[in-house]
Amino acid sequence: MQTGKIGLPGYLNTIPRWREEQLEANPLRDPARCSCDIGNQDTQHVLLTCPCFTNLRLRVLGPPPARTGMTWKDWLTKPASAVKAATFILKTRLLGQFRALPNTFQASRTGNL
Ligand SMILES: [Zn+2]
Repeated sequence: MQTGKIGLPGYLNTIPRWREEQLEANPLRDPARCSCDIGNQDTQHVLLTCPCFTNLRLRVLGPPPARTGMTWKDWLTKPASAVKAATFILKTRLLGQFRALPNTFQASRTGNL
């Protein structure tokens, strides 16, 4: 998540083959765009601003890092907040490889993935 290279359209769109496949399926939609249509669906957008996950964000993450004076990348370097962020991303079910996990799943610092 810190690098932004995660299976979200904001990153996948930088891979030409993925982008071409998405544009073939729907030529009128920017493949990187989030379903909220406010921005590209990348790590920063999902973690901090996407209105689709406002309630989940507050419940799992608490106040956004901007309110604590930290950048989102700084925030992800802190073990406690990084675990919360990983749990949040899993609970959004945006990453296809984790959709089979139960909704009650929580990331941990001991690496139970
Ligand atoms: Zn969004």
